[in-house]
Amino acid sequence: MAVELLFPGRCLYCRRIHSDDGYICADCMDYIKFASGEICVKCGRKICFCHKEKLWYDYCVAPFYYKDGLKQSLLELKRGKRADFVKGFAFYMADCVRRMLPAADIIAAVPMFPKREREIGFNHAWLLAKQLSHILGIESDKRALIKTVQREKQHLLNSRMRKYNLTEAIECRSRSVCGKNILLCDDITTSGATFNACAYELKNAGAKGVFCVAAAISMQN
Ligand SMILES: [Zn+2]
Ligand SMILES: [Zn+2]
Repeated sequence: MAVELLFPGRCLYCRRIHSDDGYICADCMDYIKFASGEICVKCGRKICFCHKEKLWYDYCVAPFYYKDGLKQSLLELKRGKRADFVKGFAFYMADCVRRMLPAADIIAAVPMFPKREREIGFNHAWLLAKQLSHILGIESDKRALIKTVQREKQHLLNSRMRKYNLTEAIECRSRSVCGKNILLCDDITTSGATFNACAYELKNAGAKGVFCVAAAISMQN
């Protein structure tokens, strides 16, 4: 695979500066076990649960397992420390997408609360989506999914209860997804529940297909 060269760079696994070819240094590359090829391409789990749960997404792929050095690097990315890891992770995600998924029309990301995004400085899932958009030449839509807080049945509650009656919700408010195949992007997938909630909203808004891609899949599956 062709690597966009911007080296020396920081290894995604050991986080040391290196000048080897690629986003992972040669030493680490020798013992990294890739998740793609081992996980079910439909549900995104090592032990397939396709027939056990209603899945709203059509595919789910990830290049890496969420463990060891890659876990540490993704945590640093998530905490806003290492936005420079986005390129490397997106490179391997794009490789998975090209090899394993049908063509998508729009790239979306698992949303983050605007307040949280301002605190960290970015939504890491959106940064990965933007980079994937750049690599794959597919347009991205940040408004495809947004995170909101809903205050339900407030009138039935006293003021003390109201404080605790906030429900997180993911909504699709973009008409652009209608009839389209959406590539949905996140950093980590564990149970697939977040992808499923997002896919449900996208399908309800008329999306034809929802194809999920994460940088890493949790080993707990
Ligand atoms: Zn390394
Ligand atoms: Zn499966």
